[in-house]
Amino acid sequence: MFPFRTVSVTPKLPEAIGRLRELAYDFWFSWNMAGIEFFRSINQDLWREVQHNPVKFLMHVQEKDLVMASQDEDYLILYKRVIDLYDRYLTQETWFSRKYPDHCKDVIAYFSAEFGLHESHPIYSGGLGLLAGDHCKSASDLGLPFIGVGLLYKQGYFHQRINSEGRQEAEYPHLNFYELPITPVNNPDGSRLEVTVDLQGRTVFIQVWKVKVGRIAVYLLDTDTPKNSIPDRNLTGQLYGGDRAYRLSQEIVLGVGGVRALRAMSINPGAWHINEGHAAFLIVERIRELTRYMVSFDTAREVVRSSTVFTTHTPVPAGHDLFDEELIASYFGNMVAEMGIDFRALKDLAWDGERQKFNMTLLALRHSFMSNGVSRLHGKVAREMFRPCYSRLHPEEIPVTSVTNGVHVETWLAAELKELFSRYLGKRWFEQIAQPEMWAGVDDIPDQELWRVRRLLKEKMILFARTSLKQQRRRNREPLQHIIEVDDYLDPDILTIGFARRFATYKRACLLFSNLARLEQLVNNSERPVRLVFAGKAHPADSAGQDLIKKIYDFSMRPELRGKVLLLENYDIHMARHLVQGVDIWLNTPRRPMEASGTSGIKAAVNGLINVSTLDGWWPEAYNGSNGFAVGSESAYEDDEIQDRDDCYSLYSVLEEKVVPMYYRKTEGFSPEWVRLMKETIKSVAPVFNTGRMVAEYTERFYIPAIKRGKNFTDNNNYLAGHASNFKKLILDYWDQVSFVSVESSGRPKMNAGETIELNAVLSLGLIYTRSVAVEMVYGEVVEGGLKNITVLPMTLESEIAENIYRYTGRLTMPQGAFGYTVRVRPDSRDFPYQELPLITWAPVF
Ligand SMILES: *Cc1c(COP(=O)(O)O)cnc(C)c1O
Repeated sequence: MFPFRTVSVTPKLPEAIGRLRELAYDFWFSWNMAGIEFFRSINQDLWREVQHNPVKFLMHVQEKDLVMASQDEDYLILYKRVIDLYDRYLTQETWFSRKYPDHCKDVIAYFSAEFGLHESHPIYSGGLGLLAGDHCKSASDLGLPFIGVGLLYKQGYFHQRINSEGRQEAEYPHLNFYELPITPVNNPDGSRLEVTVDLQGRTVFIQVWKVKVGRIAVYLLDTDTPKNSIPDRNLTGQLYGGDRAYRLSQEIVLGVGGVRALRAMSINPGAWHINEGHAAFLIVERIRELTRYMVSFDTAREVVRSSTVFTTHTPVPAGHDLFDEELIASYFGNMVAEMGIDFRALKDLAWDGERQKFNMTLLALRHSFMSNGVSRLHGKVAREMFRPCYSRLHPEEIPVTSVTNGVHVETWLAAELKELFSRYLGKRWFEQIAQPEMWAGVDDIPDQELWRVRRLLKEKMILFARTSLKQQRRRNREPLQHIIEVDDYLDPDILTIGFARRFATYKRACLLFSNLARLEQLVNNSERPVRLVFAGKAHPADSAGQDLIKKIYDFSMRPELRGKVLLLENYDIHMARHLVQGVDIWLNTPRRPMEASGTSGIKAAVNGLINVSTLDGWWPEAYNGSNGFAVGSESAYEDDEIQDRDDCYSLYSVLEEKVVPMYYRKTEGFSPEWVRLMKETIKSVAPVFNTGRMVAEYTERFYIPAIKRGKNFTDNNNYLAGHASNFKKLILDYWDQVSFVSVESSGRPKMNAGETIELNAVLSLGLIYTRSVAVEMVYGEVVEGGLKNITVLPMTLESEIAENIYRYTGRLTMPQGAFGYTVRVRPDSRDFPYQELPLITWAPVF
């Protein structure tokens, strides 16, 4: 095609409403009722047509509409209110500035392959992206010196269509960047800021776009510039598209290009957060940068590690991002040469011996000061998964902790509920979102009022679902009768169950269909009927996921279920909002423990929906017996089929025996028990599972310690980093000289409470100094295969009894119960946690 220049022509804004454009470029509008009204009230139809995209809206709005608004008294009142709110939001004192006044300049950089900020900006595929989006919004609310780094996908994630055979068709929208709330990042001289990466010897140019999310910015990288070849221009084309080489290129653009873009903008973060392994190449680039300043490769690794944190979202080994050695070699050849190392050293940064691949999760794990899973259960599962990397540690000591996910409540809460909360919880309830005392006020909301809002939201959802379905059928050229009948689908008086998420097989969308007769009974009960609404995309390369869609479609067309089980197409943020605000029950049936966290159930809960879920992800932490329903048990299964069978039985009986009867005990025109359940859900979930709490937790436990450690390690020319690196090398070289000579214990098989055990250990340390080790007593409950809930206590160095042979003693008093105990020795340094050098030697039988 021939080259051309682009221009966007927009109507002139009347002066009285001159700041509309400024607000259009800040996603702040999207979580503020008034912010949305600000645009929508100018022209509702257009607002819908442009998918709630304010920039596109301003491009297409008629000048006369703007003039009318600027002369409308009511609009001007709204305008002033929004501008005041916005200015106050940007300038008021924040949680961070109060708590960490000394760290306001220490930027925290958050790298993620997807960001789900708003429906008008489809650069997300699912939960990972939504979490990143909500993380940014709360980072803004809390006032963190925070920036996001991601990729700007030209085609975004696909639009899903479901054809008249129930097959998913993927349609890739072509995003016009000039219609998005993003602005190009330029050099001071006005030219476009650009960085490059090397891909197999080709220089690939990357330009940068800025997205404003309240107080913070997200920088998005884009290779679609005429300076690149066509294939390279497409590198930031599709989210999770292409082959392995394409994925690797994208991840290099994100990780390596991302660091370079920040440097080019003179942003030098104090802490770096890797959100899932895709972004882990930032580690390699930062090591490379340091080696250019004559820092040794190993010291550079320590520097990088000291200020990096990593969040994993993958509960199964198969989910890790892996690359073949040859592929890595062909892409990193030049960089290896530049760093002055051989390829082997680069490969070893992330080599997964078990799978014989370069493993992005390992790259991140080995170079992060802190790592975490996204729920308590997932933390445990992740520690178990990474056990082979830490074979000498007790599984409980594996340095992968957890920070449980949340949602940005203001984004997901229905406007009608926000109003209700403002009335009963106080006007500024959203500023105390993590305070349970504030949420106790939910009890003051009269049942009737809460129920009235619930019903209203359901009616809105029903309208939305019908519109979507009619549109789909019209496009599929179905007979008129099929389109008209949709108006009879769903009913606000009927219990309605929602199930919407990616169609990944472990989520078991079809569980409820395993016993069709039972499902038909449930749905068609003449007094207490049930309706089901399904939605979700399957990755275009996931044929099993697409088969699930087809299956549900076919079920929904059976005469017994038609109009009662619905499948909606194109699940996105907009639809998610309608569903998590509008149905009664949020159904979630992942095969435990495959769901790292899940967040849609949280969105539903803050809106007063009732969760019916297997005890996976966030739910075991939240479920308290009176805030929803649990499906299945917490037991571990070896066999998927048996697990599915058991969970399926449990699901039917929960629905038949508990949920349906409770919902229909409408003694007050509604069921008072149900409303109590709703209130208990909101009170127990909202204060804990919100991203305000989550980001504060990341800040206190991860970001601030990483910033401090990063500074410590780099002060005086990376003195401590060099020291730590030398120490580790030395200990690694000499650790096999460490051994137990003898261990003596005064313990007997049966002892009285309060009695102490004297322990006496003699150790040979070889060339290692006593100050470089810690000798410890460990005890815990005896379980199959080892000890559980371990306690670790130090022993004291008593004397050197021969050259390099030392005696250590300790006294152990254990609580009542059956325990196992032992003694161990490990490296000990003030500079880093011992798990970074996991070289424990445990005492032999004594
Ligand atoms: C919240 C959300 C998700 C993630 O929900 P899960 O519970 O993890 O399945 C996915 N897609 C959209 C559009 C969402 O809003």
